[in-house]
Amino acid sequence: MAGRTARLVLLAGAAALASGSQGDREPVYRDCVLRCEERNCSGGALKHFRSRQPIYMSLAGWTCRDDCKYECMWVTVGLYLQEGHKVPQFHGKWPFSRFLCFQEPASAVASFLNGLASLVMLCRYRTSVPASSPMYPTCVAFAWVSLNAWFWSTVFHTRDTDLTEKMDYFCASTVILHSIYLCCVRTVGLQRPAVASAFRALLLLMLTAHVSYLSLIHFDYGYNMAANVAIGLLNAAWWLAWCLRNQRLPHVHKCVAVVLLLQGLSLLELLDFPPLFWVLDAHAIWHISTIPVHVLFFSFLEDDSLYLLKESEAKVKLD
Ligand SMILES: [Zn+2]
Repeated sequence: MAGRTARLVLLAGAAALASGSQGDREPVYRDCVLRCEERNCSGGALKHFRSRQPIYMSLAGWTCRDDCKYECMWVTVGLYLQEGHKVPQFHGKWPFSRFLCFQEPASAVASFLNGLASLVMLCRYRTSVPASSPMYPTCVAFAWVSLNAWFWSTVFHTRDTDLTEKMDYFCASTVILHSIYLCCVRTVGLQRPAVASAFRALLLLMLTAHVSYLSLIHFDYGYNMAANVAIGLLNAAWWLAWCLRNQRLPHVHKCVAVVLLLQGLSLLELLDFPPLFWVLDAHAIWHISTIPVHVLFFSFLEDDSLYLLKESEAKVKLD
């Protein structure tokens, strides 16, 4: 999801080198993969591999070749550590201990829990806020967009392929764009719906251009990161400006806390270290840390929607 700065920088570096990371450039690793494939991944050996492979592994798309890469990665890591070298990366990633079919178990579980938090808060929002509240449709749509993004984040961290990676990145971008749309509707759109409609059209156009460029022309990690960071910062500044002007509202402190926490927590991604216990890296810690932030943001949206409803009802009475 959104703030994966460190990973993107790494992958950008890996893409620039065109030949991957230190670990997978290592002759020991390459030899190991080659020999493993020759031994296990053709003819009768492949049949034997498939008959032994647990069903959840084949369903998750783990191939014989992937298994070779996984085993050889650990052989190489073992050699590095034995000789007192630092843990290397492979194909732009740290070595992760897989669990069942989960390639990055901590990030996958954390993504699932973020999604679960969004779902619980969506249900809570729908029961406590009447549909007549002016922000209701935009907030509910935001919850669905978030849920979709967390679904793909869970899938991507379970199994990293070209498709799941793109879906994770694109859906994360839709959350950032929807969040800025939410901000526009709240700050300007309620008084001037035409502005919100025009802004929505502009955002959809930007999303289409962004996705088309990345999927049809060139998957540029550096550009993707820069675009997300730029929109994310604009989003944060816009919300904070609104908070400053509406300090009298009792629930504004929740919004300020969410914006500052998200900015602060995204710095976690700049830390880059080999996974603790081969499971917990900075990206997973960042995913874990955003769970309570979602709860707080939806709690703010709920308070704010109820406040807007009260305000609009008071206006109707006055008229
Ligand atoms: Zn992620």
